[in-house]
Amino acid sequence: MDKMKLTEKQIKRYSRQILLKEVGGIGQVKLLNSKISIVGLGALGSPVTYYLAAAGVGKLQLIDFDEVEISNLHRQILHFTKDIGRKKTESSFEKITQLNPDCEIEIVSEQITKNNSKKLLKDSNFVIEGSDNLQTKMLINDTCIHLKIPFTIAGVLRFHGQIITVIPEEKTACYRCIFGDAIQGDSSMSCSQAGVIGFVPGILGCLEANEAIKYILNIGDLIKNKILYVDLLENRFDFIDVKHDDNCIACGVNAKNLLDYLTYGDDNSCQ
Ligand SMILES: [Zn+2]
Repeated sequence: MDKMKLTEKQIKRYSRQILLKEVGGIGQVKLLNSKISIVGLGALGSPVTYYLAAAGVGKLQLIDFDEVEISNLHRQILHFTKDIGRKKTESSFEKITQLNPDCEIEIVSEQITKNNSKKLLKDSNFVIEGSDNLQTKMLINDTCIHLKIPFTIAGVLRFHGQIITVIPEEKTACYRCIFGDAIQGDSSMSCSQAGVIGFVPGILGCLEANEAIKYILNIGDLIKNKILYVDLLENRFDFIDVKHDDNCIACGVNAKNLLDYLTYGDDNSCQ
């Protein structure tokens, strides 16, 4: 059942954001009644999870099958040295339950695939994609388009990153409108090959959390029908306009449910 009123403790905890006219008590109640799913508890998922939990999002579903490795720790700030070898979901659960008891955490320690993606994401108000492989990004894109759930996708490499938000109900440009059927023969490099500096996913993850909160509260401007490209070596933040494609295989006029016939790789996330 939806929570309708804030307790005294909640009013104190969230007082600095309740003060904002864009949030207020009504917005805070909305956040407490929201469910956001986060795919990938690595470098992008870390800031996203911390900030959404701290902001008082009532339910977070955390999805990751991977275990913490020492080479993750320079950027995956949910996980500490003592967590090496643990499931990322369990390590995250421990941190977030200590951060905010208002936030109910569901953990899913299995890989998201086309066989379980609809079931896992269907009750979400918003989905955050935080893996580092194109297959997972496409799977989240196709599943969320099918379920008509808004989502944001970010990617990072070296000193740069990019982010886009997709609102299926509004037919905004989706990942496939831009990259098409790029899932086969993916030649993109991952951070394990090309490297990444830790604060790049830190910033892109914060932008993903910001998109989710703004969508839930119906405030501000979303990064839709455009990609925000961030280059932190040169301090450049550029928007690139993109358009919905009527012939898109995921969201165009003749689109079918891609989950029924496409295959998605089983690449691991290293973020
Ligand atoms: Zn599309």
